Amino acid sequence: MITPVLPTYARAPLSFVEGEGSWLKTEDGTRYLDMGAGIAVSALGHAHPRLVAALEAQGRRLWHTSNLYQIPNQTRLAELLVDNTFADTVFFTNSGTEATEAAVKMARKYHHAHETGRDEIITFNGSFHGRTLGMISAAGSEKLTKGFGPLLPGFVHVPFGDHEALHAAITERTAAIMIEPVQGEGGILPVPDQCLKGLRDLCDQNGILLIYDEIQCGMGRTGKLFAHEWSGAEPDIMAVAKGIGGGFPLGACLATEAAAVGMAAGTHGTTYGGNPLACAVGAEVVEIMVEDGFLGHVSEVSGHLRQGLEGLVASHPDVFELVRGSGLMLGVKCRVPNMDVVNAGYDQKLLTVPGGDNVIRILPPLNISREEVDEALRRLDAAAGAIESSQD
Ligand SMILES: *Cc1c(COP(=O)(O)O)cnc(C)c1O
Repeated sequence: MITPVLPTYARAPLSFVEGEGSWLKTEDGTRYLDMGAGIAVSALGHAHPRLVAALEAQGRRLWHTSNLYQIPNQTRLAELLVDNTFADTVFFTNSGTEATEAAVKMARKYHHAHETGRDEIITFNGSFHGRTLGMISAAGSEKLTKGFGPLLPGFVHVPFGDHEALHAAITERTAAIMIEPVQGEGGILPVPDQCLKGLRDLCDQNGILLIYDEIQCGMGRTGKLFAHEWSGAEPDIMAVAKGIGGGFPLGACLATEAAAVGMAAGTHGTTYGGNPLACAVGAEVVEIMVEDGFLGHVSEVSGHLRQGLEGLVASHPDVFELVRGSGLMLGVKCRVPNMDVVNAGYDQKLLTVPGGDNVIRILPPLNISREEVDEALRRLDAAAGAIESSQD
């Protein structure tokens, strides 16, 4: 018999009732060290006092009015994002996939406004942009699309890292290139800085818009507010979600004024997107991340974590293959099935997240302490040891 909740998720037999910082607690009081942060969402850990205060204060005042009216918290969050990024303007959503959808719609509308005849979007194999029909068509992988056809036309898929194929795919129909600066679901694959710069030049030379999907790699994850800042190559449009709400559902589509030219009143909308509760939390998240020392802490603690993970690869060569990624968005490629490592982690009360290419993703809260990183490394070491003993 089918479960009351549609069985679309392969769930661990674990549930949590409370969280604090980098720790989650089950009903019976067992504490787990959370190196997944709800898939890079709980960027400031669980129950951050300032986020709780922001949510409680807004919760007592006003929850929802709709986008028929001005929403001061939305304006405040938009101003914070504009002040701290390439962007001039922001559209708020409830989720990541709505943010990438808005990005693609905006790019099409730009070319419509300029009557260029361009409407195709180039994307990369292994990418993930969300689960709407549009965004599974955008990513294009069999895993996402099988049985859900007919798919949305207008997306052109290019192998990740294949410069020749990318150049060959560009035509007079190309409207935009959409890319994750660090592929997340695909297995924590960073795009080299010089490739992002090359993409920027290619787009400029051909009248193409550059869209970044920073839903997973953005919001401080790599040690900059947004991952592309390491390269200096700015997008025209950028999708953000996950960490921006710190656990409250919130997404955003950021754009330059030029790229947003087609998005006049009535062209796009959402009932909930950017509601007062979500934006009260989102604004507090951004305020905290841009404070002195926050991003410095991410870089410092991530160097320590990475070094520790490299050590584990060296001491468990039959379990782990390599470490890759950026900041606190790290992937450890496994030699055993990655779910074996994730499950062995559960036995050690350690939470990690499986990813593509047989990777386990390490995506802890960004304010994790050095001591907690050491504890996570000890538990992962024990998990790998348990796998090795079971192999003997
Ligand atoms: C999670 C994710 C999405 C989809 O976000 P949802 O909130 O699940 O819709 C899109 N792109 C990337 C890179 C993501 O990591």
